[in-house]
Amino acid sequence: MAVLNEMHSGRIAELLDRIGRATHCLQFADGLNPAQWETLRYLARANRYSRTPTALAEYLGTTKGTASQTLRSLEAKGYIRREKRSADRRSVALDLTESGHAVMEQDPMARLEDAAADLPDDLGGALADSLTGLLRGLKTACGGREFGVCAQCGHLDSSGDGTARCGLNGDTLAREDRARICVEFHAA
Ligand code: SF4
Repeated sequence: MAVLNEMHSGRIAELLDRIGRATHCLQFADGLNPAQWETLRYLARANRYSRTPTALAEYLGTTKGTASQTLRSLEAKGYIRREKRSADRRSVALDLTESGHAVMEQDPMARLEDAAADLPDDLGGALADSLTGLLRGLKTACGGREFGVCAQCGHLDSSGDGTARCGLNGDTLAREDRARICVEFHAA
């Protein structure tokens, strides 16, 4: 590796670590902790196949027990609800309640999003792509599952008339579903 690249890579690793610590601090807000905020954010963004305790634990890179504890605390605060899926009584579907959607209006990570929104378009796009690549590399090293959206998924089956289906289960995907993150994502 060239010396200049080594300097950049060291600086990037340090900056990402510091940004991670800063965002961790930010998320002790409105009576919630970082794991609770991350769970609410996940449930707001995940598609119907992914709003389960198991998928949440995968996304957070934690155990099912720890994820369940976080879910119980959010349920007690009235921010989430669980429903048994009719097809399988053991399977649970999670959703934000109205209060959950309301508290998400105060999401402390919006400060980081606002700062990112000030980046020029081309730089913002390149940064997002680069960070996605870094995260993919880390997930591979740690054995974690990669989450993503339909547009970049190898299972997406889209036809010329604008309709799209999930190739895994044959379900039709509405436009808003295609923008949500999915536990079954497989990079195209
Ligand atoms: S196409 Fe891929 S990302 Fe979209 S729902 Fe199917 S598995 Fe999930």
